[in-house]
Amino acid sequence: MPGIDLHTHTFYSDGTFTPRDLMTLARERGLDVVAVTDHDTTVGLAEAEAAAEPLGIELVPGVEFSTVRDGEGMHILAYFVDPSDPGLKEELERLQADRFTRGERMVARLQELGYPISFDRVREIAQGGNIIRPHVAQALVEAGVVPSVKDAFSDELIGSGGKAYVEKHALHPVDALRLIHGAGGVCVLAHPGTWREASPVPVQAIDELVEAGLDGIEASHPEHTPEMELQYVQMAERWGLIWTGSSDCHGTRYDPVRLGSRTTPPDQFQRLKARAAELGSRARP
Ligand SMILES: [Zn+2]
Ligand SMILES: [Zn+2]
Repeated sequence: MPGIDLHTHTFYSDGTFTPRDLMTLARERGLDVVAVTDHDTTVGLAEAEAAAEPLGIELVPGVEFSTVRDGEGMHILAYFVDPSDPGLKEELERLQADRFTRGERMVARLQELGYPISFDRVREIAQGGNIIRPHVAQALVEAGVVPSVKDAFSDELIGSGGKAYVEKHALHPVDALRLIHGAGGVCVLAHPGTWREASPVPVQAIDELVEAGLDGIEASHPEHTPEMELQYVQMAERWGLIWTGSSDCHGTRYDPVRLGSRTTPPDQFQRLKARAAELGSRARP
């Protein structure tokens, strides 16, 4: 049975691996299909494609959108999007510009609070990718302010609502879904079992997405219990949706490295591809 992992991050967002490292490990772990789904960016996809091809791995181009509904974050996965779609490009550029100014503002607040970090160093850590909180946290670790990246996510520093925290621009999940479909992509709700702390995404929020044309649900995920997984598989079956299983690998950010620890059944992957063909033909007549 082929190994299909449809949710991974590289160092272009908050993963630690280069696309090449990721694909090399994927080969070692017997994966045949890997989706790269960095947060709010498609910047690593060309490199991932170039690394996957000689290894005989099928790369699925993806993005994981950070959306907000009623003040709470929801992650939406997009598969087989056309990165040259003007609507998608415009939104991703807007997100990137917003992350940049937000990073600057968080660093300025930290400096005002007396912490010795610089925005130049944060940019270096981001290596041309979107600037996200783990990058600022890494700079705080290097400056000796906190012992680990996790410790920077506090009320004193850059935890949500913390003294140096700055809100970011984000799409509503239904708007993200429309954007993804417009770019010929398949839309899958990521890890619905982990929303606020340990509680799952409210059924109402899932209903709203299903109503708007959601294509699939990520039922199997390292942070889902077996009960949750079963519940989401049944939910997908009830609504005729695709269901996926994926590792949400972030390189060495989680120990052990998750790549391939959850996989998608081949029949579900075939459905996902069929749906992409349907949407693609509509987006690119
Ligand atoms: Zn996520
Ligand atoms: Zn993710």
